[in-house]
Amino acid sequence: MADDHPSYVCPQCGGLILNRGYPKCEHCQADLPAQLLFSKAEMDKNWAAYAAAQQRDADQRLRDAITQFGGDGVSNPPTP
Ligand SMILES: [Zn+2]
Repeated sequence: MADDHPSYVCPQCGGLILNRGYPKCEHCQADLPAQLLFSKAEMDKNWAAYAAAQQRDADQRLRDAITQFGGDGVSNPPTP
C-alpha cells in the first residue's frame, strides 16, 4: 500500500513519535534524527501560533474582567 504521508516512528523502537517538537523518543528515550523532528521554520511557526493564542487569551480575560467590573462603553472589536 503506497502512503505518501509518512508516519514518524522511532528508528530505535519503532514507536510512533507523538511530539515532533521533542528531540527524544517518548517510548525509549533514544535521540531522534533531525529529519523526524520539526524543522526550525516549523518550530517558529508553532511558537508564533502559540504566542498569538496566549495573547488572545490574555486579552479576552482582561476584557472579561473590565466588563465584570462594570465598565460600560467597552466595545468588543469584531472578531474575524
Ligand atoms: Zn523509541
